Amino acid sequence: MFEEEAISAVLDLMEVPSRSGVYVLGCFGRYITVYSQQVRALNLVYALNQCSKLKTDTRVCVVGAGIAGLTAAVGAARLGATVQVLEKRPRVMGLQKGSTQRFLHPHIYDWPAFELESDSPGLPFFDWSASTAEDVVNQIDKEWAKELELNPRILPPIFSVSDVALENDDPGISDPGIRITWNEPNKGTQGIDFDIVILAVGFGSEMDVTGAQHGYWEDDRLVKVHESVKSCLVSGTGDGGLTDLMQLCIRDFRHDRIVNMFANDARSRSIGLELLQVESDYRGQPRKLSDYYQKLHVPHVQELLGSMLRKDTDVTLTGGSFLKIYGGKSSILNRFIVSQLMHLKAWKWVLGPIQFPLSRNSQNKFAVRFRAKDGIEKSFDILITRHGPETPALQFGFPDIWHECEDLAKRWRALPQNLDLTRKRLPWKDAFETVDDIELTPASKVGPIRLVAFDLDGTLLRANNYKWSWPLVWTFLGYPDSLRARIMAQYRAQRYTHNQWYKAWCDRSARLFKKKGLKRSHFAEITSSLMVTDGMRETIQELKARGVKLAIISGGIDVFLEEKIPDYKSLFDYVYINQFRFDDEGAFIGVLSTKYDFEEKWTAVELICKTEGFSPAQTVFVGDGFNDADVIGKGGRTIAFTPTSAEMTNADFIVHEADLRKILPFLFQESASNG
Ligand SMILES: Cc1cc2nc3c(=O)[nH]c(=O)nc-3n(C[C@H](O)[C@H](O)[C@H](O)COP(=O)(O)OP(=O)(O)OC[C@H]3O[C@@H](n4cnc5c(N)ncnc54)[C@H](O)[C@@H]3O)c2cc1C
Repeated sequence: MFEEEAISAVLDLMEVPSRSGVYVLGCFGRYITVYSQQVRALNLVYALNQCSKLKTDTRVCVVGAGIAGLTAAVGAARLGATVQVLEKRPRVMGLQKGSTQRFLHPHIYDWPAFELESDSPGLPFFDWSASTAEDVVNQIDKEWAKELELNPRILPPIFSVSDVALENDDPGISDPGIRITWNEPNKGTQGIDFDIVILAVGFGSEMDVTGAQHGYWEDDRLVKVHESVKSCLVSGTGDGGLTDLMQLCIRDFRHDRIVNMFANDARSRSIGLELLQVESDYRGQPRKLSDYYQKLHVPHVQELLGSMLRKDTDVTLTGGSFLKIYGGKSSILNRFIVSQLMHLKAWKWVLGPIQFPLSRNSQNKFAVRFRAKDGIEKSFDILITRHGPETPALQFGFPDIWHECEDLAKRWRALPQNLDLTRKRLPWKDAFETVDDIELTPASKVGPIRLVAFDLDGTLLRANNYKWSWPLVWTFLGYPDSLRARIMAQYRAQRYTHNQWYKAWCDRSARLFKKKGLKRSHFAEITSSLMVTDGMRETIQELKARGVKLAIISGGIDVFLEEKIPDYKSLFDYVYINQFRFDDEGAFIGVLSTKYDFEEKWTAVELICKTEGFSPAQTVFVGDGFNDADVIGKGGRTIAFTPTSAEMTNADFIVHEADLRKILPFLFQESASNG
């Protein structure tokens, strides 16, 4: 029953009234994220399939090759439809391409409703993992290219199109389909009939009121630390404005890092629950919400943020109403962080809105007048306006349809986030992962080894009696290793999942390290007894020359890598490891714990396989210790390299000599016998 209701709700909120077969994919939605658009896209094609509107050989046109359009296109093709994608830019995901400063995480905006258990959306395809927007685009690009190569139901996409239009029904022709016309470079006007048209055109380009502003996804210079203090004004209190406000207040700002530092401990969980309750109790009461956030003091989050404040910016926020900062429509996460920054006096507020046109004064600063202050002028070095799109993309490209959707758009606007069924997954998982998925794996890809993943400590780095990097830090700071082992055992015994106990353990260690004043400069001494394993570089070169992808999947510490293999980023394609953080003076401030140690190491292998399109059977894991043994028997091959734990001797191949080149015979001569 739920499924039927949800299917009709999805179709009802996406079909253009009076235009049977034409759907608008999420363009009126709120709380829009890459992930929620993927879910909407899968929901739409699944719903169409379930009510028999989309089946084998249905002709589908998808307009827009952002994440929503691509997901709808692949989803529809996997359900049997023939799909044509039309895109006005010269490539897919053009909005986020090249964005190395913005970071995407599929679930970050769900906090505090969900803890951040996973870095991936967990989708049947395009299952990217959290990273910079640029890297996420690269992940999607690879999978899209593979899909195009292997799935003949997706016709070659047409880029750089203009004037895409839907022709009105011609009453003289019986059921001709929906005629789409467009202009194509070098070909001129084209027109084809389709059964279904999905308009996935997004939200439109932002206004550039300064004449020199970077779009939200374009790299700007906000993350750069300046020598002199810059006065900065952020205009806009939506998520874009609040994100830039945080970026200007916090050093090396990234949502996921901040959230990972506080979200999963018991105190923060109870704050999270309180926030959810308050948001629900005060829905539609911006004044009460605003009062609540202004009074909300969370000392441990303030302490954390306080240690990360930038010293090179003087930040002001402005907008039409102070109430909108906390009582508006932005995410709970952003409002929460911004409220704690307010208590730290990291930013100040000036009531706007700002007046146009803008000008620059004789010092080349922005001279901004604030309407609420009767046009009083203040000057700023940096001005960022996040006022939303100039004209919504749907209105710009398809004015008739925009007009026909006026009532529909109102219904979207009135929809509270928790009642928006379009973003709740329909039960489609198996629908997209059936026979087609198996057919999509090319035979040529099963066989040769495509990925070799290495443990770090004891495998790539060695020393006498060396097992692991953490004990070296503990003992350097004067803590007995027995204390480390005892605390770690306690945490392991208390929690259910790896991520729960491991992160808690790392955080506890971090607190002890901070207490003793650990510094980045200490690591030269801490790692002084370590050497890079013999034959490491030759082995890596050999594997690279054969086109094998390389990974480090380690429960060790990134600073060890920086010290001993400083060029590791150019040697390895993927590195999963605990990341130590230091402030500008080099004092240790915390650890971003890896999610891929112990029983989760195999998860990292699977993640890489998904990204690269390899089968797990084409992977080899090389490790030595007890935290590597879980990989054995999971579907790939394993090498125990000078094993230090009994469990590792169950690996497919054992190397006793401490020379990494000894793994090569196993990798490239299947007949080799155990060394
Ligand atoms: C300020 C801001 C901050 C954001 N922060 C985040 C964040 O932190 N995390 C997150 O997940 N999401 C974030 N988002 C949302 C994210 O940008 C969207 O979720 C995502 O881009 C939506 O994908 P889409 O495919 O629906 O639209 P788009 O990515 O906009 O893709 C639409 C495509 O349609 C094409 N197109 C448009 N009109 C036509 C036409 N007439 N003919 C042909 N092609 C056309 C466009 O060129 C484009 O390629 C943010 C958005 C903004 C504005």
